Amino acid sequence: MAIDPGFCAPGLDRADALRSDPDGLRAAMMRPGARLLRMSGLDPDIGEDGGLSWGSLAEADPEGDLLLLGLDDGAPRFAHVGHVLAQGQPIPLLWQALAVLPERDAAIYASARSLVDWHARHLFCARCGGDTRIEKAGWSRRCTQCSAEHFPRTDPVVIMLAEHEGRVLLGRQPQFPPRRLSALAGFVEPGETVEGAVARELYEEAGIRVHDIRYIKSQPWPFPSSLMIGCFAQAENDVLTIDTTELEDAQWINAAGVRAAMAGEDAAPFIAPPRLAIAHHLLEHWLETRG
Ligand SMILES: [Zn+2]
Repeated sequence: MAIDPGFCAPGLDRADALRSDPDGLRAAMMRPGARLLRMSGLDPDIGEDGGLSWGSLAEADPEGDLLLLGLDDGAPRFAHVGHVLAQGQPIPLLWQALAVLPERDAAIYASARSLVDWHARHLFCARCGGDTRIEKAGWSRRCTQCSAEHFPRTDPVVIMLAEHEGRVLLGRQPQFPPRRLSALAGFVEPGETVEGAVARELYEEAGIRVHDIRYIKSQPWPFPSSLMIGCFAQAENDVLTIDTTELEDAQWINAAGVRAAMAGEDAAPFIAPPRLAIAHHLLEHWLETRG
């Protein structure tokens, strides 16, 4: 695959050791090269060069906290964590802005967005209801009452292409734009393997049994905190029983149809998922590697 899905580029040096080093962290904040990621709520501010916009740490609201995103060639990079629930623009509008961000900037923003959002939603302890405070430079919170430590969550989601005799299974959710089809997906449940989740979701949503489940690649998806785990699977047959509470439609599409959709042809049987999404890259990978 020539280009990765969105948010996959190597971002900052995460500088884990600095997170638990209060003196080092204070020194990092004093460094002349320290910068604050400018955000409007959860949305990125875009600079004149078309990349993320960075300001001085003095721009941060003194009522909030600073979160260490990491080091950029040794220079500390921070984001501001507020105490009110941050809002962002509707996701489809945001995607348009993110699609033109440099890949590395998009990856840095993905980390920042997930963390800023997580902090705003975890001001209170899930165990006792006490106030929590930021720790480890923004990579955990601790309860002021019961001392429980809470970590930013990442929610694993399987997203997969089932294949049967030269065709792949694609579906559409009711909120998709007209004619869009994409890979089926679902959250991994507690106690479940990635393979188990792929098999269960394909059976629940489309009624098909699969084998030979293979991991292909993953993608952070910061809306709010998913990790998309891209897989292929072989279907035992092509008889679909669609769960209409999850999917509006599901179809088997052959390689010519996928190729036409990926090329954006008017006569294509569907509109491909956007390049930002891992589903686009799974389809590209399927076209490149199918026997
Ligand atoms: Zn507590």
